[in-house]
Amino acid sequence: MQKLLENLNPEQLAAVTLPAQPALILAGAGSGKTRVLTTRIAWLLKTGQVSTQGILAVTFTNKAAREMTARLSAMIPVNTRGMWIGTFHGLCNRLLRAHYRDAALPQSFQILDMQDQLSSVRRLLKANQVDDDKYPPRALVHYINNAKEQGLRAVNVEAYDDYDQRMLELYALYETQCQREGVVDFAELLLRSYELLSRNQLLREHYQARFKHILVDEFQDTNDLQYQWLKLMSGGGAAVFAVGDDDQSIYAFRGANVGNMAAFQVDFQVQNLIRLEQNYRSHGNILEAANALIANNSRRLGKNLHTDAGYGEPVRVFEATSDINEAQYLVEEAKSLVAEGWMRSEMAILYRSNAQSRVIEHALFGAGIPYRVYGGLRFFERAEIKHAMAYLQLMDNPHNDSAFLRVVNFPTRGIGARSIEQLQDMAKQHDVSLYAAIPYLSGKAGTSLSAFVRLIEGARFETQQMPLPSMVQTVIERSGLITHYQKEKEGADRIENLEQLANAAVLFLSEEGIPQDMPALFASQGFQEMVSLPAVPGVEVLEAEQVMEMTPLAAFLTHASLEAGDNQAQDGQDALQLMTVHSAKGLEFDAVFITGLEEGLFPHENSVQATDGLEEERRLMYVAITRARKRLYLSYAQTRMLHGQTRYNIQSRFMDELPEGVLKWITPKKQAYWFGHTASGSGYASTGSAPEPLAMAVSGRDTSWRIGETVFHKKFGEGVIVGLEGSGAHVRANINFGREGMKLLDLSVAKLERL
Ligand code: ATP
Ligand code: MG
Repeated sequence: MQKLLENLNPEQLAAVTLPAQPALILAGAGSGKTRVLTTRIAWLLKTGQVSTQGILAVTFTNKAAREMTARLSAMIPVNTRGMWIGTFHGLCNRLLRAHYRDAALPQSFQILDMQDQLSSVRRLLKANQVDDDKYPPRALVHYINNAKEQGLRAVNVEAYDDYDQRMLELYALYETQCQREGVVDFAELLLRSYELLSRNQLLREHYQARFKHILVDEFQDTNDLQYQWLKLMSGGGAAVFAVGDDDQSIYAFRGANVGNMAAFQVDFQVQNLIRLEQNYRSHGNILEAANALIANNSRRLGKNLHTDAGYGEPVRVFEATSDINEAQYLVEEAKSLVAEGWMRSEMAILYRSNAQSRVIEHALFGAGIPYRVYGGLRFFERAEIKHAMAYLQLMDNPHNDSAFLRVVNFPTRGIGARSIEQLQDMAKQHDVSLYAAIPYLSGKAGTSLSAFVRLIEGARFETQQMPLPSMVQTVIERSGLITHYQKEKEGADRIENLEQLANAAVLFLSEEGIPQDMPALFASQGFQEMVSLPAVPGVEVLEAEQVMEMTPLAAFLTHASLEAGDNQAQDGQDALQLMTVHSAKGLEFDAVFITGLEEGLFPHENSVQATDGLEEERRLMYVAITRARKRLYLSYAQTRMLHGQTRYNIQSRFMDELPEGVLKWITPKKQAYWFGHTASGSGYASTGSAPEPLAMAVSGRDTSWRIGETVFHKKFGEGVIVGLEGSGAHVRANINFGREGMKLLDLSVAKLERL
């Protein structure tokens, strides 16, 4: 016990050992919130106050859930398998699987990730001949998710005008479509399980009696429905232990409501409010930058952070001439850090928008530096994997119309758009799935579609006794995907990914503790045990539902969909970490590069109009800064290609909010050609309307050196001009010589060769 609690500071200790009552731990970044939450679970178990069955812990990502489980097993000898630790989505999925009948879902319901949901909506609009200029698919998705997050079904929504009315009708049609296909989207997982609990008293009481302790990490980013879900689940009896940081609330755009922190204190009559003020993650200069930045926000609950770690190194600032130059700088710095012995996996390059990663990836790739991108297109979101998964989904449930449409003619097998239209008419007429409508079709369409049915049935028959990995392999082969990609010019990568899918299945089984040789379509006892609910004395009606009848295939499909909704992927080899700031929440790295610190980019141009928007951007910047342990880099570029346009940028206002004393400028702070920080305007201008720093020659210079040019110096080797200043005979250039560092050279003296 001593061991478990040692190394905690007094506030942390108090938080870990609080009595079983509602509690809120309000604390800044890196103060040990996640650590306290995990330690509390261990402490509760170790002191015998609760069994593993009595704990429900909510994390923000699947990765965080895995980490928490791993830490827990390291702290105490306990069987974490089957413990309810997961994301809201993961836990809701579990609930719905166990009680699918009560939730009015088919046993093999499948999950739509965000991509699937969008294509499902597109299909709906098309089928109903809706003008998608007037009703854009994304707008409808947003409308639907928004309604669901407020707990509203189509029948509960009131329309204010014709447009609203039409959206509402489409929402209703979407609900019907999903129900018919046996699919649920992410928001539906939550709403459906909320409704299940609120309508079914017996079930509700069962879970309320079961979960004595409910612990929630990243509480500031819960949305309204999640909050209601927690209320329902706790039933007023469970000790809800919430940890969060209002300064890190960064998902308002997805419905997160930081107001839940205040509501929680009132609704749960929280007597135990603990603040943690010591930061254990970052060195002093980094923390000072974070504190100074966030002080510019007005609506805060108020916290202070201090550290014993000492100031450490200054925050390095680099002004790049272009996005390409910025990427080169990142590459050079990363290389020299690795040469000094830093781990690549302990370095993160952060950016505001995914679109920024391309240039950086290109540079890293060119330099042969292993890197991993999080939050972009991950494995389970790649087109070829989605295709393969669609075939597997059809093995599990052929009535999933999304899966059906994805692959019915992929690879092409002569089933044209006309045939699909006929089929859709038939399905509508008979109110059945597309697959079930095939027998109603005759003629050419009927023939070619029947061949598809034979393919699916044949593959299902062939694989029915196979374990999951062999099934995956066989289905991929039978589908014709490999042959298809062999003909494609860039198909090699895709084939490699497809081959990886069987490995992913092997890994999945071992992580879940499912025997590798269990038939993929068979729900065995061993597997059931793992997910079984405890017997509830006196609750007869539940007995039949004790067992989650899920086949390894269904479990794998679920895993893939949930994983696709996650912000992070798994770690593996020592690779540099690339991700958006949003994805970096809760993580920490020895060195962090925050890139693209430009007005319009970070803060994002869509946010700067509204105060709320700007404050959310600032919290995002706060999250970014506080990821760093020892070294922090900030960079911005004067020009950047984005969405096919060159932008001329000025540095982010967030740079001005950092205390000058903690910064170290790698490039001189202001340069002669710099056209300065304009107080107004959108912060960037399109080509033509702004001075062109790149092309601007410093006046009177005879040699026309340009920023971005690669040069050679006898002593320092190859370098890139990153800045020019002065005029006439006194032109000086800032040159990045990579390993040799940045040099300011007088061009009338230094002998440079153009490369
Ligand atoms: P965030 O707000 O970013 O999610 P957090 O508050 O959850 O941060 P943790 O991730 O739990 O913070 O902790 C930050 C780091 O500090 C971790 O590496 C953790 O192990 C370490 N840490 C926390 N408390 C202590 C302590 N008492 N002694 C030593 N290290 C600690
Ligand atoms: Mg945390």
